[in-house]
Amino acid sequence: MAQTVTLIPGDGTGPELTDSVKEVIGALGVDIEWEIVEAGESVMEKEGTPLPDYVLESIRRNKVALKGPLTTPVGTGFRSVNVALRKELDLYANIRPALSLPGLDLPYKDIDIVLYRENTEDLYAGVEHWVGKHAAESIKIITEEGTERFCRLAFERSREQGRRHVTVVHKANIMKYTDGLFRDVFFRVAKEYEDDFEEIDDRIVDNMAMQLVTKPHLYDVLVCPNLYGDILSDLCAGLTGGLGVAPGANIGDEIAVFEPVHGSTPKYAGQNRANPLATLLSAKNMLIHLGYEEDAERMQRAIEAALKSPETRTKDLGGTAGTREFTKTIVANL
Ligand code: NAD
Repeated sequence: MAQTVTLIPGDGTGPELTDSVKEVIGALGVDIEWEIVEAGESVMEKEGTPLPDYVLESIRRNKVALKGPLTTPVGTGFRSVNVALRKELDLYANIRPALSLPGLDLPYKDIDIVLYRENTEDLYAGVEHWVGKHAAESIKIITEEGTERFCRLAFERSREQGRRHVTVVHKANIMKYTDGLFRDVFFRVAKEYEDDFEEIDDRIVDNMAMQLVTKPHLYDVLVCPNLYGDILSDLCAGLTGGLGVAPGANIGDEIAVFEPVHGSTPKYAGQNRANPLATLLSAKNMLIHLGYEEDAERMQRAIEAALKSPETRTKDLGGTAGTREFTKTIVANL
C-alpha cells in the first residue's frame, strides 16, 4: 500500500527543490503518494493566512511531511510559518546532522556531528513587545518539562545510533536561570544514560562556536537550546559544504516534518541554480524514518556518485550543473 506523505513545496526555490525530490524518489520506486498542500507567501493572498488549517490537518493525518523552505518577512508582516508549524504540531526537537560528503574540496573531510536543537521554547516563544516607543523586550522561556523531553529524545536517538559523546551547549554563566535550568535538566537526564556514552559534557556557546571551527572532530552530538542550535547548525553546515547540503528534521512524539536547514533563497528562485541536496538528504532521512532503509542507502550512493565530478555538482559546490542537471545525474546513477 502506498505511503501518503504531506508535501509543502514552499516559497522561493522550494518548488524546484521538492520537484527534485519527487523525481529521485519516483526513480527509486518507493511507493509514496504525495499529498501536496501550499503554505507560506504563495497562499497568503488567497487564503488570508500563510498557514491554512488544511495544511495542519494534512500533516496530522499523514504523520509525516516533507517541507520546502518558507519565507518570513523581516521586521514586519506575519510571524514565521516555520515556527508556527513546529509549535502547532509540538515538533519539539529539530535534528540537524552535519556529515562530510565525498568529493568536495573542503578544509575538513570527515565531519560527523548531529546537532539537536530544542524547537519550541527559548527566544522563539514569540513573547515580544514594545516598551514605550524606543525600547523592545523579548522573553526567553525555558521550562523543565520542555527541556527534559527534548534531552531524553536526544539521548535515546544518540544511543540508538551508537554515538559516543554528548555535549550540552549553553550560556549558563550569564543566563543563570534560563540556561542554568537547561543545563541542570540535561545533566539530570544524562544520569540515566551515563553507561551508554563515553563522555557527556558541556560547553559555553561562544567557546563552542570557536571550537567547532578549530577542532570539530572533538564533537559528536550537540544538544542546544533553540537559538544557539539555530546559529550553530548553520556553522556546522558551513563545515560540510554550506547550507545547500544541510538536511533537517522536526520531530515530535507522533509527527515528523523533514526540511532543509536553509531558507527560500528568493534570489535563486526559478533559476535552476539552487542545490537540491539539503532537501534530498532530508527526504533520505524521511525514507529511513518510514522504514525504507535500503532505498535510502541507494539514494545516498547515487548522490555521492553525482558529487564526484564538478560537471555534475551545483555551483555552490564548485560545479557547473543546475538543479535539474544534478537531479538527472542522481536519477541516472540510480
Ligand atoms: P537562505 O538560507 O535562504 O540563504 C542564505 C544563503 O545560503 C543564500 O544566499 C545562498 O548563498 C545559500 N543557500 C541557501 N540555500 C541554498 C541552496 N539550496 N543552494 C545553494 N545555496 C544556498 O537564508 P536567508 O536569505 O536568510 O533567508 C531567506 C528566507 O528564508 C527568509 O524569509 C527566511 O526567513 C526564510 N528561512 C526559512 C527557513 C525555513 O523554511 N525553514 C529557514 C531559514 C530561513
